[in-house]
Amino acid sequence: MATAGKVIKCRAAVAWEPSKPLVMEEIEVAPPQAHEIRIKIVATGVCHTDLYHLFEGKHKDGFPCVLGHEGAGIVESVGSEVTKFNPGDKVIPLFISQCGECRFCKSPKTNLCEKGWASDRYDVMSESDTRFTCKGKKVLQFMGTSTFSEYTVVNEIAVAKIHPSAPLDKVCLLGCGVATGYGAALNTAKVEPGSTCAVFGLGAVGLAAVMGCKNAGAKRIIAIDINPTKYEKAKVFGATEFVNPKDHNKPISQVLSEMTNGGVDFSLECVGSVAVMRSALESCVKGWGVSVLVGWTDMDDFAARPIQLIAGRTWKGSLFGGFKSKDGVPKLVNEYLEKKVKLDEFVTHNMTLAQVNDAIQLMKTGDCIRSVLSVALQ
Ligand code: NAD
Ligand code: ZN
Repeated sequence: MATAGKVIKCRAAVAWEPSKPLVMEEIEVAPPQAHEIRIKIVATGVCHTDLYHLFEGKHKDGFPCVLGHEGAGIVESVGSEVTKFNPGDKVIPLFISQCGECRFCKSPKTNLCEKGWASDRYDVMSESDTRFTCKGKKVLQFMGTSTFSEYTVVNEIAVAKIHPSAPLDKVCLLGCGVATGYGAALNTAKVEPGSTCAVFGLGAVGLAAVMGCKNAGAKRIIAIDINPTKYEKAKVFGATEFVNPKDHNKPISQVLSEMTNGGVDFSLECVGSVAVMRSALESCVKGWGVSVLVGWTDMDDFAARPIQLIAGRTWKGSLFGGFKSKDGVPKLVNEYLEKKVKLDEFVTHNMTLAQVNDAIQLMKTGDCIRSVLSVALQ
């Protein structure tokens, strides 16, 4: 490639400060260092975690940055020590790394790796080191990925090589939302055949959790959202019943308990609200109910009565659906190609990177499931 070893100037959507629209800028992307890979991003989804950082988390040390962590692209060039990737490979950048060597990677019990951006500071949502500059300023790489840019540089421990025939404008969703919800049901909750499940929040993450419950053989899947326009989509993924908390003047946990003779076997919180996390726990049946936190928030403490857990419920959390990222994502891509996992049905809008602020607005108002932005030409 003519660009290998050189700085690339390209377009990116820069978040200069919290709560402000992103600005399309020309940025400089440095060549990859020894263990790094420079990727041309072809497509990216917009996930609620991007909105969380921009409008809720707003950490003062986390800006300026380039958001986006649900993308797919093509390797442009690789660092001198990289042996397992070549220019032209189709890849998905990973916000959870898999170095394969740390104590977490060596344990089958978790997908957390101690090497990625998260080992720096979780609250800033970026590592301090970055390959981006704009107008003479350092620009951070959100979640170590930054897919709202035509080019990005990612450490090889946080890149998955995928099947060469994978359509990048669909499989980008496996970089975050769909893998997260699907894996939360299968890997973290470990939903059982014949069980009754409740999924709170029907964005892409929640709908993917519904799909996970269905593929695990759940008999009843109760889908809960305050936005009833999401129910039709939830049916497509396997939901069997729908509940709008706004239609009831009693706690949603009581409504679910009455519907299920004492509570559901599994519940998944896919909203990112500590109040909903509590409701999801309280909606589980005593004795064996399992509730999983999938929604992302680090703003507030949560509360629950100890008796909820003493009585035998389990409260767990799930990051990236519990998938070991480099191993899991290529397998999920293959499952999509084999039609075992749906992706097309999540995409409600196709736009360009320049329209990223419109895509953010659609998610804010609840008028989309996933907007997929085309970034650089393939
Ligand atoms: P989204 O905005 O598309 O969907 C959220 C849904 O929750 C919406 O349909 C909304 O109407 C619904 N909702 C809001 N308040 C509700 C309430 N009180 N009760 C029921 N439903 C309610 O978001 P998304 O992209 O699907 O992401 C969902 C959550 O998952 C976010 O918090 C996101 O940050 C988080 N997330 C976590 C991980 C992880 O690894 N754990 C990864 C990706 C996303
Ligand atoms: Zn995400």
